[in-house]
Amino acid sequence: MARQQRSDDWGFPRWRPYGAKGRAAARVRLCDREGCDEVGDRPAPKAPNSPERWMFCEPHAAEYNRNWNYFAGLTAEEAARRAADEEAGASAFRKSAHYQWAGPGDGSRSRDEMRALDALGLDTDADFATVRAAYRALAKQYHPDTNKDDEDAATRFQQVQAAYEVLRKAEERKSFKA
Ligand SMILES: [Zn+2]
Repeated sequence: MARQQRSDDWGFPRWRPYGAKGRAAARVRLCDREGCDEVGDRPAPKAPNSPERWMFCEPHAAEYNRNWNYFAGLTAEEAARRAADEEAGASAFRKSAHYQWAGPGDGSRSRDEMRALDALGLDTDADFATVRAAYRALAKQYHPDTNKDDEDAATRFQQVQAAYEVLRKAEERKSFKA
């Protein structure tokens, strides 16, 4: 309960004057992490299905992303659907951006695909054969049959499945376009 209240406090944007030396003070957004007075210029989604964003400084954005189980609470289907929605929304932007000539991991992957690769412990340029191999190894490692009554393993198993589904669907879309 106390934790929830603290989260609410974080949501209130904090500002401070910045670079004011005789000229009109520009106001900058501060990092949403409690007690941090750095500039918050790194957006991070508040929840997997929420369009709302925290604004953090770079170290706190990294901390937040590390601790956040991005695929928690999503079924494999839901994760894949969200990734597809993101792909649809991002494609117009991506076509007009400088990404056409970029290699793997430089914009050819959506944010969800990057998250999924991260969840499988893979680099951003992993091909689909690598993805499938990593998925099989992790799914075996965390399978409920071999991890009886282990809640962490169950969560991890679900996360691995969701991540794989995101990447499998992305691979499917790529094949259709090719
Ligand atoms: Zn910070």
